[in-house]
Amino acid sequence: MSLVRFTGRLAGLGPDDTRALVDRSLSVQPALEDGVRKLIAEVRADGDAALKRFARAFDKVELAAIEVPKAELVRALAALDPIVRAGLERAAKNLETVARASLPRPIEIEVEPGVVVGRRFDPLARVGVYAPGGKAAYPSSVLMGVVPAKIAGVGEVVVCSPPGPNGLPSDVVLAAAAIAGADRVLALGGAGAIAALAYGTESVGKVDRIVGPGNAWVAEAKRQVSSDVGIDAPAGPSEILVVADRTANAEAVARELCAQAEHDEDACVVALCVGQALAERVLAAVESSAPMQPRKEIVLPALASRGAVLVIDSLADAWPFVEAFAPEHLFLALEDADASLPFVKNAGTVFVGHSASVAFGDYLTGANHVLPTAGAARRASGLSVTDFVRATTWQRISPAGAAAMAPATDALAQSEGLFAHAAAARGHINAAAMPSSPSPTRPRRGLEAIARYVPKRPPCEVDLTDNTSLFGAPPSVANVLASLASSTITRYPSPYGDELRTALGTAFGVHGDCIVTGDGSDDVLDIITRAFGDVGDAFAFCPPTFSIVASFATANGLRPDACALDVDAIARKNPKIVYLCAPNNPTGAMLPEGFLDAVLAKTRALVLYDEAYADYSGAPSLLGRAATSDRLIVARTFSKAFGLAGLRVGWAVSSPAVIANLERARGPYKVGAVAEKAALAALSDRPWVEARVADVLALRARFVEALRAKGLAPLPSNANFVLVPVPGCEARADAMRAHGVSVRAFPKLAGVGDALRISIGPWSMMQACLAALEATG
Ligand code: PMP
Repeated sequence: MSLVRFTGRLAGLGPDDTRALVDRSLSVQPALEDGVRKLIAEVRADGDAALKRFARAFDKVELAAIEVPKAELVRALAALDPIVRAGLERAAKNLETVARASLPRPIEIEVEPGVVVGRRFDPLARVGVYAPGGKAAYPSSVLMGVVPAKIAGVGEVVVCSPPGPNGLPSDVVLAAAAIAGADRVLALGGAGAIAALAYGTESVGKVDRIVGPGNAWVAEAKRQVSSDVGIDAPAGPSEILVVADRTANAEAVARELCAQAEHDEDACVVALCVGQALAERVLAAVESSAPMQPRKEIVLPALASRGAVLVIDSLADAWPFVEAFAPEHLFLALEDADASLPFVKNAGTVFVGHSASVAFGDYLTGANHVLPTAGAARRASGLSVTDFVRATTWQRISPAGAAAMAPATDALAQSEGLFAHAAAARGHINAAAMPSSPSPTRPRRGLEAIARYVPKRPPCEVDLTDNTSLFGAPPSVANVLASLASSTITRYPSPYGDELRTALGTAFGVHGDCIVTGDGSDDVLDIITRAFGDVGDAFAFCPPTFSIVASFATANGLRPDACALDVDAIARKNPKIVYLCAPNNPTGAMLPEGFLDAVLAKTRALVLYDEAYADYSGAPSLLGRAATSDRLIVARTFSKAFGLAGLRVGWAVSSPAVIANLERARGPYKVGAVAEKAALAALSDRPWVEARVADVLALRARFVEALRAKGLAPLPSNANFVLVPVPGCEARADAMRAHGVSVRAFPKLAGVGDALRISIGPWSMMQACLAALEATG
């Protein structure tokens, strides 16, 4: 007689056995139903007084206060085993990462011409998270409820957990509530806690949703209040379904079965094994390990009532069973588990591949462990950030859109006998001329609002407007351009600028496969935006900065989101791409210490780091880091220190996988053959380039001093330009142009006000600029 109830071939199970295995529907006992109803009624009638009576009766404690003081949370956290604390903090961080990435996105779509439907998500105001007490006090479950609620933006997250003899919930629950960032903790348990959260009392505010596991009383109370407050799916006994092939380790499969069996005598643990031999090995492993389990008094009854190790002939036999069974946990112990993932129809969560133990998901991966059981995975999902938001839709209808919909609405309303509806619709029939079908030349949303970029740069004796090199091109470039072979011009250039990639790699210490080139770094920024941005994705940038990136975002269908230079502000936008620029244009500033790391840690975004002016900053370059990162791309240009702005060559560095996708979006022949040859020549002249950079730094210092002597206060700069706050900057720039000097005016810059940006050139030019400033001041 096996310790496991169901063995043999899956196909050989009779209808009764199949039903016994698959049907895990939960039933409610009438006595429990009545008892819970009375408790809920008492809380609704007597509020806090009823809760204190329940504490006396059920928890055997006189509750001085229902709310746990914050100091108790601090104390419990300080007393927590540091290793457990580190584990919980790591779990909370991963939950946060997954929750941020799972935040649903708003939409706005033109359904018919003039008929726009939008949908956005707003957090619930208040949420209750129930945490059982006693032996079932699982701190991990507190995190699973609180963290996604906080990331969703819920205003107040209240944890309820039954008090022990000291009148407080268990220390692990208090510590977990502190780590997860719960707003309040209440010493309340059982059906009373659920009733208080659902209806409110003097000291417990009514919440909008209650989540978290509990005993039968809690589950029944949640069911009974569910018409007045949102609840999560009922949490039945744990379940695992393992699908294993010949590459599976039988002992590892047995460990997974025992792990879920130790939760509950009614746990349901099933393995489907491809081939008799594997099934025999798994069964033997279960039978030898189950009696040794520390919790064997739970594991053994679970195996005896709901355990199964069954043989299937091929993987194809597994999927109909998975679909019917709809397990809470599905573990694919398969040679190519990824290839099987698309066949899975119903499962709370899927563990893909031999190393994906359910234990990791229970604690640490950041996927939620509150999952639908008892086959509810057919209709429900595991707990997530989406449980803590609700959608508001809006409908914007233009007069033309209304006129176009009026006849059909009129007919439908009349057919239902709702004549006032019909009249309301008909009232719009003549509101506007009937719209024609959408014009094929209607541009992408937002595009018409973008001003075509036209630099204000009329020819001028001394042009200090665009931060290009005022020292000429490197000497080797002229030689190369003078001796071009005609085939350089008649034939296509190399598709991806491979010779240049290799040379750049050698010059900057990264592999050529980590480099993409483009038609100026503008083009590289545009390529990056379209390669990684989906329509509707947020593209975050922090003005004042190189704002043309907002146009690239719009033109590629993304949503440009201007943020303060603040990591939390950026994270709140849930951006797909974050643009950072250092030294920044137009301020010349570097980023605050640790800013990039914080952005990478607090968002899931791809960071596009623009180092167009890095040659002047002396700061450690991020090129090496980008070459090994799949979330960081560093962009560079030949337009500034290398003196080749007219030839249009830009480049960027990231991991080879990122670069491969960029090249898909880029397409071939972006860098012309003449430009590539010139860039190679400029690279060979690096000592000359570096000497000019040193000249710029010295000239900049001298120029800044001269500006200060005039009473101006240029911002500290790390680039080949300075930004000088000057009121009325546009008029001043026009006036300076009349004196033969052109500088760039930036009116109303965030945090700066009106300012002039002045490129650094040879001293004669800077003197002309100082004279023009003097003459126009
Ligand atoms: N990034 C920044 C910060 C810039 O200032 C500029 C040009 N002014 C560019 C990128 C684009 O440079 P290019 O396209 O010439 O490489």
